[in-house]
Amino acid sequence: MRILLVEDQAMIAEAVITALRDAAYAVDWVRDGIAAEAALAQPEYQAVLLDLGLPRRDGLEVLRTLRKQGQTVPVIIITARDAIEDRIAGLDLGADDYVVKPFDLHELLARMRAVIRRQGGQGAPLLSNGRLHLNPATYEVQRDAQLHRLSPREFALLHALLLHPGTLLSRAELEERIYGWNEEVDSNAIDFLIHSVRRKIGADAIKNVRGAGWMVDRPL
Ligand code: CA
Repeated sequence: MRILLVEDQAMIAEAVITALRDAAYAVDWVRDGIAAEAALAQPEYQAVLLDLGLPRRDGLEVLRTLRKQGQTVPVIIITARDAIEDRIAGLDLGADDYVVKPFDLHELLARMRAVIRRQGGQGAPLLSNGRLHLNPATYEVQRDAQLHRLSPREFALLHALLLHPGTLLSRAELEERIYGWNEEVDSNAIDFLIHSVRRKIGADAIKNVRGAGWMVDRPL
C-alpha cells in the first residue's frame, strides 16, 4: 500500500516513515502544499497523511482542492493539540480522521488500517476472499483451517491483490503499491514475493498470466 506523507517537520516525518515502512507501507514524503498537490495528481495512493501547517500552501487548501477534484483517497489530518478549529474544518472539508501531535505511532497505524478498510467498502477488520482471510493488524492469513504469518512485504503484496479480486496486476503496478520513491527494487523482487506467499497459502491461490501479471480470483 502506498501512502503520501505531507509533513514539513523532518523529525516527525522520519519517525512516521520508519514506522510505516516497518509496517510494509510504501511511503512517499513531500514537505509542502504545492509538492503535495503535484504528488496527488497521480491517483495511486491508498491514504494521505496531511499536516495542516505547511509551507507554500496550507493543508486545508490541499484538502479542499483534492476533494473538489472528486478524489476519494482517505485523508488523515495531522494537527497540533491546540488547533481544534482546524480539525473540525478538516473533517468538514472531507478528511476521514485526524491524529493530534504528538501522536502514538501504533494508534496512527490502526487509524490508517481503519480508513483504508472503509475505503475498500469493508467494515470488518479481515479482508476476505472466498477461502482466504487476511488480517491487516497481524499480517496473518488464514486459508481453510491453516493460519500463516506473512512478512510485511508478503502482506503488502497479498493485500494489493485482495483489494482487486479478478483483476490482473502487472509487475509495475505491484511494485508501485509495495515500494516508495526512494526504494531500490530488484528486478525479480515481485517474483520472489509471489513465490514465498504461494508457498505459505498454496500455489493455486494466486494466478499468473505470463507477461501480464497476477491476480486472485473473484469470490464465487
Ligand atoms: Ca507543519
